Amino acid sequence: MNRAAARRTVQNSGITESNRRVVGRVRGTRPGPMVLVIAGLHGNEPAGVRAVERLFHTLGARDTPVRGEIVGLAGNLTALAHGRRFLVRDLNRSWTRRRIASIRARPGDVEESEQLELLELIEDLLRGRESESIILDLHTTSSESIPFCTLGDTIRNREFARRLEIPVVLGIEEQIHGALLEYIGARGPVTVGVEGGQHDDPSSVDYHEHVLWTALVQAGCLDAADVPDYETRRGALVQARGGLSRFFEVRARRAVSEGDGFAMRPGFRNFEPVTEGQPLADDRRGAVVAPEKGRIFLPLYQEQGDDGFFIVRPIHESWLRLSTVLRHLRFDRLARLLPGVHRSRRRPDTLLVDRRVARWQVTPLFHLLGYRKRREALGYAAFSRRRHDLKF
Ligand SMILES: [Zn+2]
Repeated sequence: MNRAAARRTVQNSGITESNRRVVGRVRGTRPGPMVLVIAGLHGNEPAGVRAVERLFHTLGARDTPVRGEIVGLAGNLTALAHGRRFLVRDLNRSWTRRRIASIRARPGDVEESEQLELLELIEDLLRGRESESIILDLHTTSSESIPFCTLGDTIRNREFARRLEIPVVLGIEEQIHGALLEYIGARGPVTVGVEGGQHDDPSSVDYHEHVLWTALVQAGCLDAADVPDYETRRGALVQARGGLSRFFEVRARRAVSEGDGFAMRPGFRNFEPVTEGQPLADDRRGAVVAPEKGRIFLPLYQEQGDDGFFIVRPIHESWLRLSTVLRHLRFDRLARLLPGVHRSRRRPDTLLVDRRVARWQVTPLFHLLGYRKRREALGYAAFSRRRHDLKF
């Protein structure tokens, strides 16, 4: 890093370059958003960390003019050193208010200490500018894959992710509990999870880097003219997507529990089309088949992990447009008038649906209105409205 760039590397609020978790930090002289990149939350996914290192190396070497601030953080340092997804617990499944309260009181195992350190750093960085921040969380997959992103379905997240050129998958956070972005996203920043490709594929580093440069230009931190090979990078993302739809939704998940003997059948690529009833994996009871037609998503080809596979389907642009209009009109206020729908007394943003009364297609309607399903039990389904859907 040259001297001018080094001068822009800010050291304040206890976050210094010597913090082992900070891969890079550059603050521009002109105002702009903060783009915070987190990589290696899973220790067997170092491609994101490599891409962030390359990004800061180039920014420093070229003395690139920056608006706002760019920060890169490494996630599970211990697991990264061991090349394992995690040592004791998955660092991307413990971000719930209850768990964090207990970890703050007394961090126990190695991942709890990692989580507390990371949380304090993120809170420090976000403080007072939650709504002007964009957080990217970089991952890779055990199966071969083109790059894609996942996000909580807010209009703001969607609009930002659309500019990254890669397919967007909605609804994964309804299936996976305790993900970092779900927790931090509730505070106001735009949050996008980026998957660069297969863990050990060298092109995953390239794709992550292409996405980072694209995101920084689209966020307004960098001018396209200052990015080396900007159009080539963007073009590589467009080409990787090929003829695939821009948006997909998660339709089903096959969970894996310890001892159920789950093993994917070999050779499935992410987003490969599957038909209903097609054998995809095996477990103790025999063949595991696709519950419906769609595309296989995140097939598990590693030992650690609790998601066997998902099934996703394309979302039509007309659905996206309709949901934008309905959410702007706050149509959900009318949903409370439907039979069997009540507002939760404890949580004003949560609606409880009595499934014995409301027998219609509840989940798609609430997705359209910007709600996520939280749980379903005892004949009731709970849906919560995402805050910061349209604005901050
Ligand atoms: Zn991951």
